[in-house]
Amino acid sequence: MNAFPRLVLASGNEGKLREFRRLLAPLGTEVIAQSALDIPEAPEPHVTFVENALAKARHASALAGLPALADDSGVCVRALGGAPGVQSARYAGEPRSDRRNNAKLIADLQGVADRRAHYVCVLVLVRHAADPEPLIAEGAWHGRIIDVPRGAGGFGYDPHFLDEATGQTGAELPLEQKNRISHRGKAMEALLERLRDE
Ligand code: IMP
Repeated sequence: MNAFPRLVLASGNEGKLREFRRLLAPLGTEVIAQSALDIPEAPEPHVTFVENALAKARHASALAGLPALADDSGVCVRALGGAPGVQSARYAGEPRSDRRNNAKLIADLQGVADRRAHYVCVLVLVRHAADPEPLIAEGAWHGRIIDVPRGAGGFGYDPHFLDEATGQTGAELPLEQKNRISHRGKAMEALLERLRDE
């Protein structure tokens, strides 16, 4: 039996909603966007991905009265002490802009030889707002930051994120291939495993 016949997704992002609907389809779970319930975005004041994902999931669950799934993701650059990290979406300030975020990242890495970086995705599922045992799944994708952007696909930092195994950037990889190796794909796989156990 499916332990989660309906859940609210703590995001208004259409792309994420599509991915999560596809992921949860085999379980027969109905995924409702929080925006469809007029639930506003939760504040993300924390310094770790897991804390922000938990805050988003609890907020959506409390307001919807349903189980909730949230994700928080970003890119962590080794030479920058893990920055942009949880600030990835607004690294260059508001309003959020991928173009300005990438320009700032490349400027910050001027003259820096160590280009190692990894994407991180943390997924959190709470059965209810006060759930003491949330399901938590993580995924990481290791690569390095290149100065000259390559590729037209993906989003965010993808044109500057080189996957060394394939020699392609996140923006050059076909979406299906990116999903198989990416932080989000791996976190989804791990969460699905946990859900099957439930
Ligand atoms: P969130 O929606 O608050 O979790 O912010 C995630 C941010 O991290 C995005 O706005 C991007 O800047 C960055 N990010 C996360 N995953 C990816 C990815 O797969 N490719 C490129 N950028 C990503």
